[in-house]
Amino acid sequence: MDEPEENNSFRDRVSTIAEDGKRLWVYPKRPKGRLFNYRVLVSYALLLIFFTLPFIKVNGEPLLLFNFLERKFIVFGVMFFPQDFYLFVLSMIAFIVFVVLFTVIFGRIFCGWICPQTIFMEFVFRQIEYLIEGNNSMQRKLDERAMDFDKFWRKSLKHLIFYLISLVTVYFFLAYVIGMDRVKELIAAGPAGNIAGFIGMLIFAAAHYLVFAKLREQVCVIICPYGRLQGVLLDRNSIIVSYDYKRGEPRGKYNPLEDREKVGKGDCIECNSCVLVCPTGIDIRNGTQLECINCTACIDACNQVMDRVHKPRGLIRYASERTIAEGTKLSFNVRILFYSVVLSALLILIGYLFSIRTDIESTILRLPGSMYQEYDSLHYSNIYTIQLINKTRKDLPVDLTIDEAVGSIKMMGDPLVVKKEDVGKATFLLVMEKAKVKTSLTEIEFKVMSEGRVMDEIEATFVGPNELDTKK
Ligand code: SF4
Ligand code: SF4
Repeated sequence: MDEPEENNSFRDRVSTIAEDGKRLWVYPKRPKGRLFNYRVLVSYALLLIFFTLPFIKVNGEPLLLFNFLERKFIVFGVMFFPQDFYLFVLSMIAFIVFVVLFTVIFGRIFCGWICPQTIFMEFVFRQIEYLIEGNNSMQRKLDERAMDFDKFWRKSLKHLIFYLISLVTVYFFLAYVIGMDRVKELIAAGPAGNIAGFIGMLIFAAAHYLVFAKLREQVCVIICPYGRLQGVLLDRNSIIVSYDYKRGEPRGKYNPLEDREKVGKGDCIECNSCVLVCPTGIDIRNGTQLECINCTACIDACNQVMDRVHKPRGLIRYASERTIAEGTKLSFNVRILFYSVVLSALLILIGYLFSIRTDIESTILRLPGSMYQEYDSLHYSNIYTIQLINKTRKDLPVDLTIDEAVGSIKMMGDPLVVKKEDVGKATFLLVMEKAKVKTSLTEIEFKVMSEGRVMDEIEATFVGPNELDTKK
């Protein structure tokens, strides 16, 4: 944005750090307005989803489970195993490309509307704070005041509730890792039932509490890597929360008796409302800043001011820097095109890999160190091991077959049944007529059958005597 030279000093410091290096605590005014109301709806819907999903089961299993300890993953009822890790990695890459593409076009909209940090901070913890300590100026006065009974009970109650919410939240996070049933068991057993686990939960809850009671906007401003990336992801066409400096400048105090156009004043009346509501303590009129989480609080605040002074809304609005500077619309540039192509290719690849994912994954290997055996005067045999991973939620009887014209399979041990979500192993012989073994290495194909369905097809080799090659 074309800014006057003297306005750029704000870039030399962090809005929440004083000259002497001390933290400047932000006391944002509670936002009001249309966009805030939409954010309330989105946030409480997402919180409802977060706290409800662990209770939902599909065929007796959680809808979502990310059990890294036992390497068990369930995504919307579909179970994934470590062997499916490539799907997870590709999905993560696609997700990152999606986030990059989305940020290039829509800026940091994720931070303001969907990020758990913002949702918990603004719509859970901050709302409790307003209830207990009052509005932003009451909170400031309370903090500046010496400790008395009123301050003591308000602070104690607030921090106790913050900690209890943190404890409940980390138990729900745990439910996404080990499942709600096991979380209920842990709670029912009480602290004495698993003292180390309970202390662990208290520590995690303390970390969660500290993020929202102390760190707050510092997570978005200093710690979050996504926030740090904005500088390289945003360009002049990205849609961000922008101040229309063409319309707002030169700013000047409001005087109902004067014609602002005639006296050469812009629409900004220097009321500071946009700064007062900002949860990261910045002044959006300084232009794009890394601290801006696109929460839209300043849009709502400024729109209300514009209504009061009978000016059109949108002095602060969603717009790109180019739109503000040149009055142009968002264009589909090369960078957006490139990210779109990469994202589409990844989505197609992931869709294809999901479509060919089988319920049973099998591996057949010849027994290490074994060669061919003389089965009888007319046949050779090879000995193999088969490993089967049953990715379904039911026990599966498995049959291994091969084209009768090629040879016959002699399983060793009991009929093979692979337990649900488990790995099964077996050893078998493949017997081939000597007359059909023409080389030392014959290509063969096995079919893994279960309940009349072909579950997998595996290629392997059958070893015969080396002399067969020399005879040729
Ligand atoms: S709220 Fe609007 S009018 Fe008031 S200072 Fe901010 S930009 Fe100017
Ligand atoms: S500048 Fe506006 S959109 Fe950005 S964080 Fe502050 S209030 Fe939210």
